[in-house]
Amino acid sequence: MKTERTRSQERILKLLKTLNKAISAQDLYIELRNCNQSIGLATIYRALEALKLEGVIQVRTLASGESLYSSVQQDKHHLTCLQCGQSIGINECPVHELETQLHQFHNFKIFYHTLEFFGLCNQCQIIQADHSKT
Ligand SMILES: [Zn+2]
Ligand SMILES: [Zn+2]
Repeated sequence: MKTERTRSQERILKLLKTLNKAISAQDLYIELRNCNQSIGLATIYRALEALKLEGVIQVRTLASGESLYSSVQQDKHHLTCLQCGQSIGINECPVHELETQLHQFHNFKIFYHTLEFFGLCNQCQIIQADHSKT
């Protein structure tokens, strides 16, 4: 099923791809205004909803309840250090197979998945070990 995209949907999708990061609808509104492509906030929300259901953008909801939108990236996961905040990209995807299985068992059309690992990086573990000695 191929749906026709509206002009605002195309603009928003293009912008999300160029930005290459997750952004809130509010910030999207500001970005578009800065490029002289003003789109009303209500239209932005409607376009985001349509693009989400099409599977081309993904949404991440923060603890604050704010939703961040980004274009669906390639299958890539990160190890995030809680101490220094650095993100290390990992090249393998442990759930890629599972996705195929889920699709077969449930006949569920999967657009994307998210998987993040949190902890302490090598450097921060050394620092922590030093602290506990003293
Ligand atoms: Zn660290
Ligand atoms: Zn993956």
